[in-house]
Amino acid sequence: MTKESILVVEDEEKIARLLELELEYEGYTVTKALDGIEGLEAYRTKDWDLILLDVMLPGLSGIEILRRIRANDSHTPVLLLTAKDSVEDKVSGLDLGANDYITKPFQIEELLARIRSALRFKPLEQQEEADWLAIADLKLNEKTREVIRGGSQVELTPREFDLLAFLLKNKRQVLQREQILEAVWGYDFLGDTNVVDVYIRYLRKKVDIPSEPSLIHTVRGVGYVIKESK
Ligand code: CA
Repeated sequence: MTKESILVVEDEEKIARLLELELEYEGYTVTKALDGIEGLEAYRTKDWDLILLDVMLPGLSGIEILRRIRANDSHTPVLLLTAKDSVEDKVSGLDLGANDYITKPFQIEELLARIRSALRFKPLEQQEEADWLAIADLKLNEKTREVIRGGSQVELTPREFDLLAFLLKNKRQVLQREQILEAVWGYDFLGDTNVVDVYIRYLRKKVDIPSEPSLIHTVRGVGYVIKESK
């Protein structure tokens, strides 16, 4: 299992260092940013599992950073570190979509418990995300049987749907016609593998040709692969 990554934005070096030590000890990977601007830049470098954000920061306040994060990211958990008497920061922080706040000075055990709880919480959006098989701007949902390419719904027959689902479950792997035939038509299918070529053609017409770049590629003498075009 990969370690969960936490971005700590805190200008008091002693606190930042303490947080780094404690969090690393707990098994997280930690990156520190010591002011607001550095914090926002670090935020943009990757998809963090959690952000621990001090409110009082030089450069850009924690509240301002939170506002910018939440402008187009509703899923990354953000925990605010606020001063004891700053009720306003807490209220505006929660209004802006902070998941929780911790008052300084904090007990490390309490902070760790809040972090664990924020990491366990998965927003609905993210749970739904797990139902989709996807590559580039193409996605397929086996539960709702929806297919979307570049934001538009694509209508497929049941067989085309199953074929696309099989390609997506094995994305970036070259699949032989026989493999595809067995998986999509079943072992008892008595036809020849030409049916695979025919259905790939149907699928391309609906999924690939209307939108560029194409995703379903022919591997000469072998079969097919779904992958991003290079
Ligand atoms: Ca501070």
